[in-house]
Parts: sequence; structure tokens; C-alpha cells
Amino acid sequence: MSIQQDPQAPTMLIAGQRVSASNGATFERRNPLDGRVASRAPAATVEDARAAVRAAWDVFPAWSNTGPGERRALLMKAADQLEAKVEQFQAAMAAETGASGLWAGFNVHLAAQGLREAAAMTTQIAGEIIPSDVPGSLAMGVRQAAGVVLGIAPWNAPVILGERALALPLACGNTVVFKGSELCPATHGLIADALDEAGLPPGVVNFITNAPKDAGAIVEALIAEPAVRRVNFTGSTRVGRIIAGLCAEHLKPAVLELGGKAPCLVLDDADLDDAVNGVAFGAFANSGQICMSTERIVVAESIADAFVDKLAAKARSLPLGDPRKGPVVLGSVIDMATVERCNALIDDALAKGAKLLCGGRAETTLMPATLLDHVTPDMAIYAQESFGPVKGIVRVKDDEAAIACANDNAYGLSSAVFSRDIARAMGVAKRIESGICHINGPTVHDEAQMPFGGVKSSGWGRFGGKAGVHEFTELRWMTVQTTPRHYPF
Ligand code: NAD
Repeated sequence: MSIQQDPQAPTMLIAGQRVSASNGATFERRNPLDGRVASRAPAATVEDARAAVRAAWDVFPAWSNTGPGERRALLMKAADQLEAKVEQFQAAMAAETGASGLWAGFNVHLAAQGLREAAAMTTQIAGEIIPSDVPGSLAMGVRQAAGVVLGIAPWNAPVILGERALALPLACGNTVVFKGSELCPATHGLIADALDEAGLPPGVVNFITNAPKDAGAIVEALIAEPAVRRVNFTGSTRVGRIIAGLCAEHLKPAVLELGGKAPCLVLDDADLDDAVNGVAFGAFANSGQICMSTERIVVAESIADAFVDKLAAKARSLPLGDPRKGPVVLGSVIDMATVERCNALIDDALAKGAKLLCGGRAETTLMPATLLDHVTPDMAIYAQESFGPVKGIVRVKDDEAAIACANDNAYGLSSAVFSRDIARAMGVAKRIESGICHINGPTVHDEAQMPFGGVKSSGWGRFGGKAGVHEFTELRWMTVQTTPRHYPF
């Protein structure tokens, strides 16, 4: 992997032009480990944001009228362009977010798959013929592109979630304004580059970056623009509530993919080695900074000692280090605020009687895989998203207690159940309040064609496949009167 030396300097993309902010302002993103400038990006003004919406709206009629074959070919090309940039993505992610090369490579791979899946969906934007009681009336439900889609994606799985903000909306014939994360503007900029280089017409994809202090004003201005017909937000529940409020005010449909606190239930008949591998991957991939991360390990008491010994041994073996210096599983976490949040969760749990199995407090953003056993509801880590490599184990009496524990949380994105008895596991899975549940697989699992999304404080709406097409199209009722119509007067 190449090592990033000079700061990256992404530009914005508006109406096919590479532009700086209209007032020349920029903002810096610093590497979380050494504080060096990782990237210097344009700090858009509200007027720049509006210009991006205008550009997208201007070309909406032409783009939404392109044939599916044309959109498919361009999205397929974009997938190739994205894959060709894997080393650039690895360097940009290591510099901006501290992510490991493994995580960056996986991001690019999955994002390219997402573009190809969206390409395949261009011929599946179908409607239906609906029987009418009016003689001679041919009635249809027709799916049409909605307009300009505003996409906002976070830093943690930047390529996958950036691509997700773009690919299916474009496949449906929408044009997009993609607002990059303040924490990884260069990484997100590479996605815009890939689409631009694939030959998407100017204005179909617009990319803007903003200084952190301007996020509220820019997002509000974008949602208020009449041409913006869908808002597609992935990020924290805190900001999701702000976005939901703005969307309510302006009556804009939104897909909100927010935080999570995924439970992984290990029942007393689980294959322990399988469960250990699934939990370790789910808990510590990208240092636990994934919305689907296994945040609560809920284990049957009777097997807990054996399971916990094996899991702790696995967690201790995971390599941790500066991702710019070589391959690791755990790279740097995103910032010292994450370290402080995780340290506080550890202190609180230990003070209330939890047992530290491995890892522990960190003084830098290189946080080790940390497991806390005997977590109870009075501990902050029982309920709060750590969004770091610090995970709690709750021991429970039986399946009923495991289900109760799984549902005793505000979030409901992903979940998992490990058991050798599939019927039993399915019965448990059905009762977990989450959008996603995997049996004998990790909580971290995403594929572009799947209905991905959460319930409760994890948000609403579904990305992926046909469910995603429903989110990013208007369903219109249209009729054709094929015989003379009878009127009462
Ligand atoms: P964040 O909510 O802090 O930031 C996301 C975006 O919100 C940024 O683009 C930012 O510009 C914008 N924003 C910030 N303040 C704003 C304001 N006042 N008004 C309007 N917009 C504002 O999220 P993050 O820290 O970048 O990402 C981490 C969070 O994302 C975690 O909670 C994680 O669980 C969640 N996440 C969810 C999914 C999912 O699919 N459900 C996927 C990945 C991450």
C-alpha cells in the first residue's frame, strides 16, 4: 500500500465542473494518529449547495429519460473506475480516518458490487397493471424517477455508504447531490471522480464538501430546495432526528439509516468456534466503527465460560497498528473523542462490577480489542453505542432472557443468533426487534440487493434491491381510456 505524504486536495463537482468554494474557503481534515493534514477540501457556501441542486435539476429531465441500457452501461463503467482506484482509496482512508487497508479494500469491493447491482436494477423499475372498474380503463401504477436526491454519507464505511447514496438513486433515473463527510472529503471525492470518469453527463452527480461548522446551514438549505425530492441520510441518530425534523417541515420523504447497538445471541447449543469467529468479526471489524457492529454479546450462562475464554483469546490475537505502516485488523479509531467515550464506558463498567477480559483503556487512537464480561443494565455500555472496539458481554439464563435483553434497547438495526437448531434460532430471530437478523452469521453483513435498514432509533426506510427502488421513485397512478367513456351528464 502507498503511504500518504502530501495532503489530498479534493475538489467539488458541480455541473460537471471541478470547483472550489465560491469564496475560496477550505477546511482541513487531520490524521487521527499524528495530526498531520490529511486533506484540504473546499468549504462550500450555502449558495454553492444551491448551485449543486440547480445543476442536478437542470439535467433531471434528460437523465430520467435515458434508457435503462445507457444508465446500466455508465454504472458498470463507474464500478470499474472505482475498483481501479483501490490504492488511492486505501491511502485516503488511512490518512483521513485511520482505517486499515483491509477495511478500505473491502469497502471498494462492496461498493463496486453495489454499482453493478444498481446497474442491473435499471430494467427492474417496473410498475403494474391494476384492474379498473371503469369499463375500458387501462390503469397502471408507474414508477418514475423522483427528482433530485440528496445523499449524505458518513466516514466509517465511506466507500460503501457513499456509493449507496448514489448508485440506486441514479439507476432509478434521479440526479444526485452528494454531500461528503467532513471527516473524509478526499475519500468521498474519489467516488465522485469514479462516476465522473465513467462518463456520467455533467450535473447528474454533483459533489459538495463543507466545513464542520457549516453542516447545519448547508443541510437545511439543501433540504429546503424544492427540486430535492428525496433525502437519503446515513449517520448518527442525533443528526438523524435533526434531518427528520427538517424533512417534516418541508414534507420531504427520507431514508434514515442511523445508529445501532446490535445484539449477537449465542444460545446454549451454538457451535462455539463458529460463534467466536462471527462475534470477533462483527465486534472488531473496522475497530467496531460500523453501524451493524456487534455491540452486545448475549450468551447463555451454561456455555458462557467456555465461549468467553475462546473469544478473549481470539480478540487478543487481532493485530493493531498504524494502517499506513502495514496490514492490521484494528487501525486507528476516528478521533480522540472516540477514545474518551470508550475509556469512559470501560471505567463505568469496571466500577459497577464488570470484568475486563482483554484490551482496556487507550491513550492514543490505537485502541485494542476490548471485552467486558458480566455487563449489567446499570452500566452505560449496556445501552449506549460505543462505536469503537469496546464490547460488552451479558450472560443470560435462557432464550427468553436473551430475547428480552436483545429488545431492551433503543436501537434496532442488525442482530444475530447462533444455534445449531435452526427452527429454534428462527423462532428467536423473529422476536428480535431489528431490521436485520442473521442466523449463524455475524451482525456485520451487507449486500447491495438486500433490504437494508432498521427499526426504532435506528431509523426508517430500506436501501437495496426492490425496496430501494421503492424509496427512490414515485409510484404514479395513470390510466388510458380505451373505449368511449360513460359520463353521468
Ligand atoms: P454524524 O451524524 O455525526 O454525521 C453525519 C452527517 O451529518 C455529516 O455529513 C454532517 O455534515 C451532518 N451533520 C452534522 N451536524 C449536522 C446538523 N446540525 N444538521 C444537519 N446535518 C448535520 O455521523 P458520523 O459520526 O459521521 O457517523 C457515525 C454514525 O453513523 C454512527 O452513529 C453510526 O452508527 C451511524 N451509521 C449508520 C449506518 C446505517 O446504515 N444505519 C451506517 C454507518 C454509520
